[in-house]
Amino acid sequence: MIKEVQIPKERKALFDEIEALKHKENAIILAHYYALPELQVAADFLGDSLALARRAGETSADVIVFCGVQFMAETASIISPDKRVLIPVKDAGCSLAEGVTGKDLAQWKKLHPKGLVVSYVNTTADVKAETDWCVTSSNALKVINQLPNDQEILFCPDKNLGKYLNMVSGRNMELWDASCYVHAELKTAKLKQLIEEHPEAECLIHPESICCSDQEILDHPHCHIGSTSFIMNYPATSDKETFIVGTESGAITELRRRYPNYTFIEALPENPCEHMKQTKLEDLRDALLYGRYEVKVPEDLRKKAIIPIERMLQIG
Ligand code: SF4
Repeated sequence: MIKEVQIPKERKALFDEIEALKHKENAIILAHYYALPELQVAADFLGDSLALARRAGETSADVIVFCGVQFMAETASIISPDKRVLIPVKDAGCSLAEGVTGKDLAQWKKLHPKGLVVSYVNTTADVKAETDWCVTSSNALKVINQLPNDQEILFCPDKNLGKYLNMVSGRNMELWDASCYVHAELKTAKLKQLIEEHPEAECLIHPESICCSDQEILDHPHCHIGSTSFIMNYPATSDKETFIVGTESGAITELRRRYPNYTFIEALPENPCEHMKQTKLEDLRDALLYGRYEVKVPEDLRKKAIIPIERMLQIG
């Protein structure tokens, strides 16, 4: 549990109940940065997709409770098949992950028989099973850069991340047409307006954002593009104290906790991820109390889906 955050008096009993249940079940609570603030406090480990996948693979707990969305819990189950993986809200999906199916990908591969598939980790297990390399926003560039220059690459599902990767890597990957509805709202005009209003600020932008495929933003001296972990660590390396943050609002909670004396301006305050915010503290308690809802990937599918994930985890 993240101890230094004050727990409101009226919620203390619920937090205590969760803590007791967690010990009884030998469970670990993993939460994504986009989870509600209370869940961030209740979590044993808070991270982005890559960090959470790693932690799921390392834990000695019997039960992993994943406060995030389906594809994340599925990934944990693929990595740790001997653990019981629970997701507190059964239908917490992700509109990006739902933008491509395994069947879609199999058909796309038929059109590009020499293409290698690089999939963002925000995909379902059946998509991962059709994938050669899995990536997150932390390691996508590293993975792509180590593939031969003349290798045809099919990238899915996020076209905005794909466009950004094409620009910074000089590749010409084929891109699937899906996007994260949250980050698709961060347009260049909006960001430029914020920069004008706060000329003293640096901008930290997640590469799923649509503005990241705009050369003007890539070249802008105030703009820095990177994964949620990058955004979390950047302020410690900067001499600035004001930051415009271009990612889902949940990340701001953790930034304010880590850097209480700095100012963080939300670029997307009106557009939180409704999927991530579905899970409440009561759902987490019920997950531990009733052992629900278990996420289990069938073994034949898991054996295929683990291959691109392991490649990703090996490359760092
Ligand atoms: S923020 Fe976007 S990619 Fe992340 S869970 Fe929500 S819809 Fe999916």
